[in-house]
Amino acid sequence: MIAALPNHYLSPNDLPFNSSCLDGRFQLQSPDADPGGDGVWLILSGNRLLVTGKTSTPALPQELAGLKPVAAPLFVGLWEQRPCRLARISPEAGLPDTWRAVNLIDQNPLLPIDLLTLGGTGRMVLHWEDSSRHCGSCGAVMQRLPGEWGKACPSCGSHHFPRIHPCVIVLVKHQDKVLLARKPEWAPNRYSLVAGFLEFGESLEEAVVREVAEETGVQVTNIRYLGSQCWPFPSQVMTGFTADYASGELVVQESELEDAQWFSVDDLPKLPPKRSIARFILDKVLELP
Ligand SMILES: [Zn+2]
Repeated sequence: MIAALPNHYLSPNDLPFNSSCLDGRFQLQSPDADPGGDGVWLILSGNRLLVTGKTSTPALPQELAGLKPVAAPLFVGLWEQRPCRLARISPEAGLPDTWRAVNLIDQNPLLPIDLLTLGGTGRMVLHWEDSSRHCGSCGAVMQRLPGEWGKACPSCGSHHFPRIHPCVIVLVKHQDKVLLARKPEWAPNRYSLVAGFLEFGESLEEAVVREVAEETGVQVTNIRYLGSQCWPFPSQVMTGFTADYASGELVVQESELEDAQWFSVDDLPKLPPKRSIARFILDKVLELP
């Protein structure tokens, strides 16, 4: 038996990287709240999480086993009531024989959903640490605010907090067809929903209208929110919508997309993995098995 992700999700909250997946086993705390004593290690090497144990029962390491973190480890909270500390190691570092490095963005990573989600949280924390060393206003080295993840600049006094970037992702329908798009770097024949980042001064719904129009030339109406998924690569939240076709001819924006097409529900291309909100929306709206 191997650890595997679910093939079906009841709610978007149940998707990997959302904290519901941790099922109360992890409590995020601030880095200055380390109670001391032994605990577990959340060790990342790029997008890979290091785990011990059999493929069927992966676990967080309880020691660093001689690995040298590239920066001082950071307390992130409690995993099953034990201190959980985050460390990053170089991709070149050799691993103990019984350890594995699992890529968190694999289509079907061999991890249970809680460890996958915790790895994603660690990835996001490291991104914040990387991007918050210096004040974005004046460039001085920042200091931690007590009791939280935010930081303060001792030079100009500004406060900075972890930045999570909202993106919209939308399934556009027209009669029995759906509008799907693909990027050139994706696997052959793989398509997904239109998606993009918010711009200045936009509501989520306004971003849906603009992204679909920019990428495909199509105008949409009847925009409905379905749910959201944390996407820690490096720090997004994907907000999922459906919309109906209103007008316009399909014109693919070639600077962003390789292709976009109206697909019949009976003749769909290769779809994104089940662990994504894109697939959740497709499965739910099209009642796919
Ligand atoms: Zn400053």
